[in-house]
This record gives sequence, C-alpha cells and structure tokens, in this order.
Amino acid sequence: MKILVINTGSSSIKYELFDMDMLKVLAAGTAEKIGEESSVFTHKRILPNGEYEKKTDIKRISDHHVGLNRIVKILIDKDQKIIKDKNEITAVGHRVVHGGDTFHSTTLINAKVISAIEQYVPLAPLHNPANLTGIKVAQSVFPDALQVAVFDTAFHQTIPMKAFLYAIPYELYEKHRIRKYGFHGTSHAYVAECAATYLGRPLTELNLITIHLGNGSSMAAIKNGKCIDTTMGMTPLAGLVMGTRSGDLDPSVPFFLTDNMGLSPKDINRMLNQESGLKGICGTNDMREVIKKMSAGDKRAKIALDIYTYRIKKFIGSYFAVLEGLDCIVFTAGIGENVPYIRERCLKGLNRLGIKFDSEQNKKAGNGIKEISSRDSKVKTIVIPTNEELKIALETKKVIENSG
Ligand code: AMP
Repeated sequence: MKILVINTGSSSIKYELFDMDMLKVLAAGTAEKIGEESSVFTHKRILPNGEYEKKTDIKRISDHHVGLNRIVKILIDKDQKIIKDKNEITAVGHRVVHGGDTFHSTTLINAKVISAIEQYVPLAPLHNPANLTGIKVAQSVFPDALQVAVFDTAFHQTIPMKAFLYAIPYELYEKHRIRKYGFHGTSHAYVAECAATYLGRPLTELNLITIHLGNGSSMAAIKNGKCIDTTMGMTPLAGLVMGTRSGDLDPSVPFFLTDNMGLSPKDINRMLNQESGLKGICGTNDMREVIKKMSAGDKRAKIALDIYTYRIKKFIGSYFAVLEGLDCIVFTAGIGENVPYIRERCLKGLNRLGIKFDSEQNKKAGNGIKEISSRDSKVKTIVIPTNEELKIALETKKVIENSG
C-alpha cells in the first residue's frame, strides 16, 4: 500500500510518499513559492541504502493544482522508478491544522468534513484555507484515492474543560468556540507512543511531559496516555517563547499598543506572530545563530535564552503538579533534538522532583532515540526525533483499514 502525505501551505506543498508494507519513504520534497515567477521544486528519491538523490528545479508553478501535478509527474517518471502509475497511491493523508472541537481523531474526508474544516477558518485563517486547497486539488488529481484528514488539534481533544476554557464570558465559548485547542498534536502523540515503546510500558499507564521545540514550540501534559493540558491555545501564539512568536503575555499589552502607539489589530497580530519571540529579543529566530551570538558575548542573545528556557522550566513544574506523578519527559523537534544546552538549562535544578539528567549523555550527539537521564533518576528523560509525516501516514492507513 502506498500513501502520499501532503502538507499544504498558502504557497507551498510538502510531500512524502510512503510504502506502508515496507514502512519506508520512497520520495519526498517540496513545491515552494507557488504563484511566483521563480517557484522552487525540490524532489528527493530515497535510495535503498537510505541515502537520497536530490533534484531542484526553478520554474513558475502557477497554482497548487499545477504544483501537485508536478509532484505526480516526477513520481511516475520512468527514470525515477518510484511508481508506475498514480493509481498505485491508495490514499492521500492531509495535515489539517484546525479541527476545532469537531474532530477528535483522524477522519476520512467527505463533503461534511470539508464544510466543518471551512467552519474553523476564522480560528486558523492562515492554515485552514491552504489545507482545504490541498484537499480539493488532491481530490481532482487523485480521483480514485481516499482522502484522509489528520488534525493538529485532535490529540488535545481529551483536555478537560477546566484546562481548556478561558475565564471570559461563557457565551464566547458557546457562540464562537473560543477556547484552548492546542497544536502539534501529531508530534506529541507520535513521540508519546515512541516513549512507551522505548520504556517497554503501555502508554495508558504512563504520565509524560512532551516538549516540542522547533520554530514553533509547545508542551503537552499526558496522563495515562491522554493529553490533559498543552501550552498553545485557541491559536499557536500562546505558551512558550518561540522563534518569532511571543507565547504568553499579559492580554492588556495589545490594548496598550493600540492606545499609546496607535497600532492596528493587524499590526499587533503581525508583531506578536512574526516579530517577537527569540527574533524580537535578539534579532534572529534561528537557534544556531542565537547560541553563536550568546557565545560571542551578545547580551540580548543571553537574555533571549534565559527567557526561553525559564518558560519551559516553569511549565515542567506546573505540568508536574497537574499530572500528580511523572514517569518521563520527552524532548523533540529541531531544537529539542539538537541543542543539549537548551535541554540542560530546562532540566537543571529539578532533582527534588526526581528529575536528574546525565550531563555527558546529554551532550553526546547522535541520531535516533537517546536517554539523557541519570541511572538513578525517578523520571526518565528521553530525546526522540519526531516524524509527523510517518504518523500521518500510519493514521491514514488505520482509517482506511477501518473504513472497510
Ligand atoms: P523545526 O521547526 O523543528 O524544523 O526546528 C527549527 C529550529 O531548530 C530552528 O531554530 C533551528 O535553528 C533549530 N535547529 C535545527 N537543527 C539544529 C542544530 N543542529 N543545532 C541547533 N539548532 C538547530
């Protein structure tokens, strides 16, 4: 069985083709700058030894339909020997950012599902319209394949009301669905499952804190395998300090900016989403650059990292409290997987909570799952590479098998 996973943005399509019988990636790539004169198409054919052959092509891709057809053309290219015909693709798994409180799990797409995703456009105005374009284009390019939606929000639907409801007039929740939803659910769910496998214990008996630190960052508190809280909110702006997003701040700050600086809601939205976080404090959102600057004595980079790690540590403490018992902490994504300095800063001084890490293990680079807690630590700490595309493919497979 072959499954194509696609993640559609407003001007991009990321794809990964999986052979589900062999559980391996056959090809992957991106079509970027769709609609511009010089669109960039990158394609990797994965070789049997795990290495890859890469092709890049700069040529106008006028819209997403043309982009997806471009992907199909290279997948069925005789020289590439990836697939012979597009009908070999049984299903397309779509990453959909916002499923509101309608979707608690992965769903086979039909007209009703599409209109429900449309209903959540006001809550994810940048993402859901692009995801809908991806679905509609895939339906026309692969008329015989099943289309499946995997929601970033679904894993967090077990969060209880006391944790998801904001203390603002209740009608806003009833009429406008204003509440915490949480994102990165596919990643949190994937690494939680990997942690259970690594520890050799059922996920339903484990309490975990999963820490996804990428350009966007979030944490989840997982009790007996179910998410009970997460740091992002109605949108991905809440919670941790991120690459360019502020994370939590006093809700009055935007009023101050309007009243005293004359900024419009649009200006403030852009500032908090694109010009804040690490970038807002020290001028760059690339963690490699921030660390380099700090090492060179840059004071702004140092304070940016202080704020960044302090916020994570504070959430570890609060999730420790609400979980009422913690078995394991998991670090994942670009920063969580690759930056020992950040992990150390977040974990230091937590011995009294039973969280002891091994500084040497933490520093050892390496791919794959790596345990960084000391032998006598009550709470295990593990670094697990996330793989959202694989999780989307596995979820898609499960749905099509269950649909008969
Ligand atoms: P992601 O969104 O998961 O792709 O993560 C992006 C973030 O991870 C950026 O801030 C990168 O600078 C950071 N990152 C990725 N790889 C490394 C690395 N090897 N060392 C330091 N930072 C990294």
